[in-house]
Amino acid sequence: MIEQNVKNLLSRLERGNGLGEKVTLVAATKTRAAEEINRAIQAGICDIGENKVQEFREKYDLVQGGNRHFIGHLQTNKVKYLIGKTYLYHSIDRNELAQELAKRSQNAKIISDILIQVNIGSEESKGGYPLSEAYAAYEALKQTQGLRVRGFMAMLPLSHDEKLLASLCDRMRELFDKAKQNDSDITYLSLGMSGDWELCLARGANMIRLGTAIFGERNYR
Ligand SMILES: *Cc1c(COP(=O)(O)O)cnc(C)c1O
Repeated sequence: MIEQNVKNLLSRLERGNGLGEKVTLVAATKTRAAEEINRAIQAGICDIGENKVQEFREKYDLVQGGNRHFIGHLQTNKVKYLIGKTYLYHSIDRNELAQELAKRSQNAKIISDILIQVNIGSEESKGGYPLSEAYAAYEALKQTQGLRVRGFMAMLPLSHDEKLLASLCDRMRELFDKAKQNDSDITYLSLGMSGDWELCLARGANMIRLGTAIFGERNYR
């Protein structure tokens, strides 16, 4: 199952996104056992993303290889557990968090790679900068020592309105392109989960985060 899903996905992704750009597939591994994650890695997954600091820590040494992404909501007081272990932080969604990560990174004499999370659907239940503030946040965080902004991340609202979803993807791509124009660090537009990744790729996402499509339905115990 896992092996076949990974092979099918990777072969589909060889074509790139709608703009012909290379796509990075991040396996979203919340609730999955290290053994399942290792099977996905064996099958060709190079990037894995955890949502919760506790799971990130518990599985850190049990998972063999892979770039370790953090993709979930991050409490400021837990940043310390991720320092130096995280390949890319997708969910930098507020200044307080960015400042804590910057401070801890400077103390550790490292630079942390981050994405700026945008609340593209203006949903109360989701984190992220409002779209109207995202570019200013980018400009400020770009100047912040200890951080390197690599792009943007968003979660689309749950909706069957494809026109709406496409237009939200387009807003994200415009933001990404504007930042990328004069900044060679800007590389990733992380947009797309199991329910909407094809639409996101068609509209210019170049990093997708898939859980169900790789591992099957989640079982929250
Ligand atoms: C769980 C999760 C995903 C993947 O969700 P699926 O629908 O299972 O593909 C992607 N991104 C984030 C931030 C998640 O928490």
